Amino acid sequence: MLACLDLEGVLLPEIWIAFAKKTGIEKLKLTTREIPNYDELMQGRLKILKENNLKLIDIENVIKTLSPLEGAIDFLDWLKSEFQVIILSDTFYQFVGSLMKSLGNPTLFCHELIVDDNGIISDYNLRQKDGKTKAVSALKGLNFKVIAAGDSYNDTGMLQEADAGILFCPPDNVIEEFPQFPVARNYEEFKKTLLDIRIDLNHKF
Ligand SMILES: [Mg+2]
Repeated sequence: MLACLDLEGVLLPEIWIAFAKKTGIEKLKLTTREIPNYDELMQGRLKILKENNLKLIDIENVIKTLSPLEGAIDFLDWLKSEFQVIILSDTFYQFVGSLMKSLGNPTLFCHELIVDDNGIISDYNLRQKDGKTKAVSALKGLNFKVIAAGDSYNDTGMLQEADAGILFCPPDNVIEEFPQFPVARNYEEFKKTLLDIRIDLNHKF
């Protein structure tokens, strides 16, 4: 059985929110928690970066000041002892290298930024559209049972595709729209929900 986990909002803080706070640009605070359409969200972010002459290095400098959420490292260690774990994220490899190291370098499937010679983020390259859902679907095709967990709109596709889904510390709007998923509000609840679901799934199959 595999556990597929979202990254930001589950193990790491939201990088764009941290960057918004640092730059004081209010509009950069929008994330997948508010905007369901990821392309619309990213195009908006790239436009703001351009308007404010902000480069990859400026975001990297903020990321350097971040660390995993409190308890995330211990939780992930526990999770790896109970399940095989794959992180499915809509972040970019260029952003999370150092933070993944502090998490013990778990397997990560995410996207890539296109950065020009001047360090300007000109575009981004999605591995594929709706990559989280498709990854879960492919893993099921390899005969894995998959439990997926995340906090935002961009996770609900994989939660639906998985054999079971869990929302971790989601905003109220996501809970209201997706009442079918159990909600865990801290890592202890998260562990318990994962173990309960594993028992259910083992009975089912
Ligand atoms: Mg998230």
